[in-house]
Amino acid sequence: MHDVKIYDTTLRDGTQAEDFSLSMEDKVRIALKLDELGIHYIEGGWPGSNPKDVGFFEEILNYELKHAQIAAFGSTHHHGKAPETDYNLKALVAAKTPVITIFGKSWGIHVRDALHTTLERNLELIRNSLKFLRPHAKTLFYDAEHFFDGFKDNREYALATLEKALEGGAECLVLCDTNGGNLPDVVAEIILAVKDRFPQAPFGIHAHNDTDVAVANSLTAVKLGAVQVQGTINGVGERCGNANLCSIVPNLCLKMGFPVLAPESLVKLRAASRYVLELANVPPNRYQPFVGRSAFAHKGGVHVSAVEKNPLTYEHIKPELVGNKRRYLVSDLSGRATIKSKAAEFGLELSKNDPVAMQVLNELKELENQGFQFEAAEASFELLINKAMGRSKRYFELVGFRVIDQKLSETREPVSEATIMVKVGGNVEHTAALGSGPVNALDNALRKALEKFYPELKRMELSDYKVRVLPGRDGTASKVRVLIESSDGKDHWGTVGVSHDILEASWQALVDSINYKMYKNEKKNGEC
Ligand SMILES: [Zn+2]
Repeated sequence: MHDVKIYDTTLRDGTQAEDFSLSMEDKVRIALKLDELGIHYIEGGWPGSNPKDVGFFEEILNYELKHAQIAAFGSTHHHGKAPETDYNLKALVAAKTPVITIFGKSWGIHVRDALHTTLERNLELIRNSLKFLRPHAKTLFYDAEHFFDGFKDNREYALATLEKALEGGAECLVLCDTNGGNLPDVVAEIILAVKDRFPQAPFGIHAHNDTDVAVANSLTAVKLGAVQVQGTINGVGERCGNANLCSIVPNLCLKMGFPVLAPESLVKLRAASRYVLELANVPPNRYQPFVGRSAFAHKGGVHVSAVEKNPLTYEHIKPELVGNKRRYLVSDLSGRATIKSKAAEFGLELSKNDPVAMQVLNELKELENQGFQFEAAEASFELLINKAMGRSKRYFELVGFRVIDQKLSETREPVSEATIMVKVGGNVEHTAALGSGPVNALDNALRKALEKFYPELKRMELSDYKVRVLPGRDGTASKVRVLIESSDGKDHWGTVGVSHDILEASWQALVDSINYKMYKNEKKNGEC
C-alpha cells in the first residue's frame, strides 16, 4: 500500500457552490476542525483573487496546527508578464503558507479562449510559474486543470504540460476532471498513460461530480497509485460539487486498506460534516452515505428484527466507525421489535412481549391512520411511549387561548395577537403576545406564560416549522400535519400535530415540544 494524503479544498473550491458561503472567521474555524480531524492539507483560498482569502491566510498564522498544512491556491502567471512582476504569484508568496498549489491549462480550447495565448506560451507559463515559486514553498503542487478532457483532445500536448510542471519543480501532478464529465474507465485509462510516460512522478486526483462518479474516480485513481486525493467535506463545490471526502475517506480507510485517517480520527467524521454545514447554514442531507442521519436507519419490521440479531444483515459497516449511529424508524411498517428497539434507543426498557409495546403499536397505527407521522418527530414518539408506560407528567394545563389576526389595510402586513390562560400547579397565568403570524404569536404567548414557572424554556427556540396538507378522504375536509423542530442550543428535537385546524395542529406540536424539553431536563437530572 502506498501512502495517500487527503487535500481538502472546502474553503476554496467548496465555496464555489451555490448557496454556500463562509465568512473569514468561519473559514478559520473550519480549518481548525479539519486539522483536528487529521486532514493533511487544507487549501485556504486564492489570495490573488479574493481579499477575504488574504485575511484568512493572515489569521491562520496565529494558530498552531497539529496535523494539517495550509495551502494557498493560484494560477500560472499572466502571459504578458514575467513571473516576478505577476500580481497573482506575488500574492501566493505573500500568503506565507507551507504549501502552494497552482493550476495551469492542459486543454487547447482553454489556452486559446480563456488565456488568449498560444500553446507554446502556455507551456512556458507552467514551467516558469512553478520555477519562480519553488524557492518560496516548502511544498509545491501542480493542478492540471481539465487534464482528462485535454488529454482526450490532444494527448501529446496534455502530457507536455505535465512535463513542464515537473521541470518547474512540482512535487505532485494533480490530474483534474474539472468539468466532472469523465467516467472511471476513462479516468483509469488516462492515468495509466500518464504513469507510462512519467513512471516516477507522484500524482493526485481532483474530481468534480457532474456525472455522480467523483468519488468512484478518486478511488480509481488511488487504486492506480495516486498519492493525493483532493475533495471537499460533504462534496460541496461548483455545479454538482467536488469529490466528497466524507465518502472517500471512509472508503479508503475501511474498504481499501489505506489508513488516511487513524480510527480515533475517523469517528470524528460525522461531526466534521455537520460542523461545516452548520457554519454555512445549509441543511444536512439525511441520505448522505456514511454520515447522513438515515445512513444507518432501519424502517421495515423485517430489517429491524434482523439488524437486532446481527447488524451485518443490513449494514455495510459499523456506524460508530464514522461517528454515526444506528436508528430504528417508527412507521406503519413497524412491529413490536421496532418499538422495543426504539424504546431502548431512548433509554427505556421494554421487553418484546411487553403489553406496553403492544399498546404503543396499536396507538401508533391509530395515529398514523389519522395522519400523524413520527419519523421526523421522535420527541412526540418518546412521549407516547412514556405515556403508555404510565410515566408521563403534566407540566401545565390549558384553560384556553384565543388568536386574532388583524389586517388593517391592503398594503399593511397583518398583526397577530394571542392571549392564553394556563394553569401550573394551583396558579393560573394569563398572558398576551404579538407575533409574526398566528402560530408565532401563540408560541410567544405560551412561552411567556410558562417561563415564569420554568425558566429553562427561555433557552428553547423553534428552529423549523413545516406544514403539510394531507389529502382529504371520503369527502371530508383536508387535514394538516405540522412538524416542529425545536432546539435549546445543545439538542434538537422534532414534534408533530395533526388537525383540520392549522392552529390546533401547531398547538399539539408546540405542547409536545415544551413537554419534551421539560422531560429531557428531568431525565438529565435523574428525576425520572
Ligand atoms: Zn475544482
